[in-house]
Amino acid sequence: MILSGMSNLQQLQQNIQTFETVKKLNEQEQETLLAIADEMIQNILPCTACRYCTAHCPKELDIPTLLSLYNEHCFTGGGFIAPMALTAMPEDKRPSACIGCRSCEAVCPQQLKISEAMADFHAKLQKS
Ligand code: SF4
Ligand code: SF4
Repeated sequence: MILSGMSNLQQLQQNIQTFETVKKLNEQEQETLLAIADEMIQNILPCTACRYCTAHCPKELDIPTLLSLYNEHCFTGGGFIAPMALTAMPEDKRPSACIGCRSCEAVCPQQLKISEAMADFHAKLQKS
């Protein structure tokens, strides 16, 4: 899916022009895209933000938001966005507050290893 941001008429016209002609990707372009997709799948936790887990967390952590920040942090190789967002959260709502009880994992339809992600996130933040 392509989500193209447009902020003026010229950009809209350019986008229409781009899609007026159907042009298949060549083999090299396809391989590049698949390689990027593979890397994303391997390194990102596919949380759907269904929030089934949140009611089961004894620490009342906003798990999907933390996982989204974790994904961002991993994907960018440790940028500033996640640390900045976490600074705005109370300390008892940050990844370090996770006690590793795994109550959330018992109900996660995606079977995500949330407790490991929280521990890894905390460790990564300590290093940055
Ligand atoms: S493992 Fe961590 S995030 Fe999951 S329910 Fe327990 S305290 Fe909450
Ligand atoms: S239950 Fe799993 S998929 Fe749903 S919000 Fe929680 S971590 Fe994400």
